Amino acid sequence: MAEPVRCDVCGKLFSSRHVKSHKRLAHPKDKLAGSASQQNGMKTILELYKTLSAENKQRVLADLAAVEQKLS
Ligand SMILES: [Zn+2]
Repeated sequence: MAEPVRCDVCGKLFSSRHVKSHKRLAHPKDKLAGSASQQNGMKTILELYKTLSAENKQRVLADLAAVEQKLS
């Protein structure tokens, strides 16, 4: 009957009727809540990154790429 719809936040499948209420309940204000702390985190990461040697920067970039591959 209802087409399954994937939640774009957590990736789980829901009926199209339920995905909106799921997102409201399971991920309240995700984008708003995440933005401030994530920006602070990014700032910290960039500041640390700047202190690294060229060799260690390469390692960090490789590690980040590996982390991204594991997540996706
Ligand atoms: Zn979800």
